[in-house]
Amino acid sequence: MATVRDNEQRQVAGRLTPAELSRLLLVECGRSMTAVEVDTVRRAYLVANRAHRGVKRASGEAYIVHPLAVARWLAERRVVAECVAAALLHDVVEDTPVSLQRLRHSFGPVVASLVDGVTKFEAVEQPDAGDELARRRERKQRQQAETIRKLLLAMAEDPRVALIKLADRLHNIRTLDAVSPERQMRTARETLDIYAPLADRLGLAEIKYEIQDLSLKYLDPERYTWLVERINTEVSARHERTVATTHAIEQVMARQGIDAEVRAKIKHLASVQRRIAPNGIDVSEINDLITYLVLVPERRDCYAALQAIHSQWQHLDARLRDYIGSPKLNGYQSLHTTVFGFEGLFDVHIRTHEMQRVADYGPILLAATQHEARNSRGQSLQWIEQVRSWQRELSLSAIDFVESVRDDLFQDQIFVFTPKGEVKDLASGATVLDMAYRIHSALGEHCVGARVTGNDNMVRLEGRDYPLSSGEIAQIISDDGVTPDASWLRVAHTRHAREAIAHWLHAHDLPTVEPASSDEIAHSDLLRHARLAMCCEPGPEDDIIGVPAKSRLVVHRVGCRYVPAARSLLHVRWETLRPQHYRVSLDITGRDRRGLMHDVAEVLAAANLSLARGGAHAISSRFKATIWITFDVRNPQELHHACQRILGIDGIVSIERRQRLPQRHATERTPAKG
Ligand code: MN
Repeated sequence: MATVRDNEQRQVAGRLTPAELSRLLLVECGRSMTAVEVDTVRRAYLVANRAHRGVKRASGEAYIVHPLAVARWLAERRVVAECVAAALLHDVVEDTPVSLQRLRHSFGPVVASLVDGVTKFEAVEQPDAGDELARRRERKQRQQAETIRKLLLAMAEDPRVALIKLADRLHNIRTLDAVSPERQMRTARETLDIYAPLADRLGLAEIKYEIQDLSLKYLDPERYTWLVERINTEVSARHERTVATTHAIEQVMARQGIDAEVRAKIKHLASVQRRIAPNGIDVSEINDLITYLVLVPERRDCYAALQAIHSQWQHLDARLRDYIGSPKLNGYQSLHTTVFGFEGLFDVHIRTHEMQRVADYGPILLAATQHEARNSRGQSLQWIEQVRSWQRELSLSAIDFVESVRDDLFQDQIFVFTPKGEVKDLASGATVLDMAYRIHSALGEHCVGARVTGNDNMVRLEGRDYPLSSGEIAQIISDDGVTPDASWLRVAHTRHAREAIAHWLHAHDLPTVEPASSDEIAHSDLLRHARLAMCCEPGPEDDIIGVPAKSRLVVHRVGCRYVPAARSLLHVRWETLRPQHYRVSLDITGRDRRGLMHDVAEVLAAANLSLARGGAHAISSRFKATIWITFDVRNPQELHHACQRILGIDGIVSIERRQRLPQRHATERTPAKG
């Protein structure tokens, strides 16, 4: 059985001359391309070779060796000629005088746009920082965020850009030995942060695992060496068991007449590291260090193979996964099961050979190949149709991809827009207050909240503690009468904002610690800009909406007839406003007796609630009385207690919160008939 991959063997190709390498590339291309297509690749090589002439890589090799290696990797995986040509030319626009127009003229719009996309990627990478000032670095980071956004969009147009870029990164990290240790660390870090998640999302497992493992090698060489050593030892120790299990699975398949290829697969180094590091366990404690892979011809064979394995060994129900019935987002399909075997549990993955190709290369690489459709000239129509359907699928999955990858790529960053469309990148978890300080400290100092346009396109009024998400548009609301206090330090999450607030508090001789006994719910400054409508008496349990009025926002209950129909309404959450109190009206019924209304008022006074309005109506014929009262409460608990005490009054039968929700009249909505 194989041991952990040795990357040295891959560098043998590096000793060949560029001319020899280019010949090998063209031979490789000849296996799947027409003569015209091979010629396109050859012309691309000539242009790139001339453009990079005289330039050397850090290793001392001619620069052209790098694009040749990237193109070769793609050609070996049978991607289309345009993609291979773009790979050869991928550094030309960035590093040489050759222009994009020239490429468009010589190679057509597809090659040119692929190169353009990769060039944008290039700009994302940090140059050698050296002794740059921190300020310059921050500006660079902001530019970077903007570039990343742009390139995600470019990638949505043609995901093959990402494919070329990943092949590029793979070759760079394979040949990282030649550069300075500082550069090695930075490249390795960036690879783990951006490119490995990208490869994962695209389903390019082959690249993902290799760049992860190599990143670890440079980030923590001692750990890397130790892991290689430990994994190899452990794999040897399990050798006999592995061989026996492989044979046993083969026999089970043979007995059922299933034509299966069984492989023992060693867990990748980075995955082992991820498993052992946080749990503090040893490599020997990893059950699934070796996974058994059962490859079968057809989809239906997968289920037959699963059944055969389950009839031979007891399986763990909780670990059974059907990624064939429901594939992963990146296209991965397989059946996973865990069974009790000879000396404990082992994992079996069952899939077809075709699914294995998707597992290794991902749907995007497969869609960038063409050999299946190119067997005969007569199939050209079918081929065009297939390309079209791929393009449809790709553009769809690319949009999904951009959505889902964003979180992964930028797990520690969010992008929020100003109303003018400027992008502000903030640490994840940043609030409206952080955003205000990011724009200007004077805005931060008087920030009360923001009008936030959410990703659902609804406009909401939010307080300064509202945590923003990527893609939202925030228009900061400020009020000169509002200034920072110690509680703001709790609301701000970014270092920049916290420092500015602390500085302000110091300068104004204010404490930076909140007073310990603050039982009262602090009401929000936003309430200065809003008031609760009298018509519908909104409370904490109601859905509310804000109607912009002359000076203040008037907050109504959703459905109130006094909410104008066609106006720019703001969605508001009760927690955002945190009013000190709100108004409620109760309808109380009871047996009519002398002093009933008086008793009700007494109870309210005892509870420290002041009656705003009230009245009583006696129906003497039935000895029944109805009382209505309106008063202010601070919270639902207070209202609940008040109701309990009123119900305790002799003669009171029931209490109802008056649903002061003035409905629209049916006639108002129905157009008059003519
Ligand atoms: Mn490159």
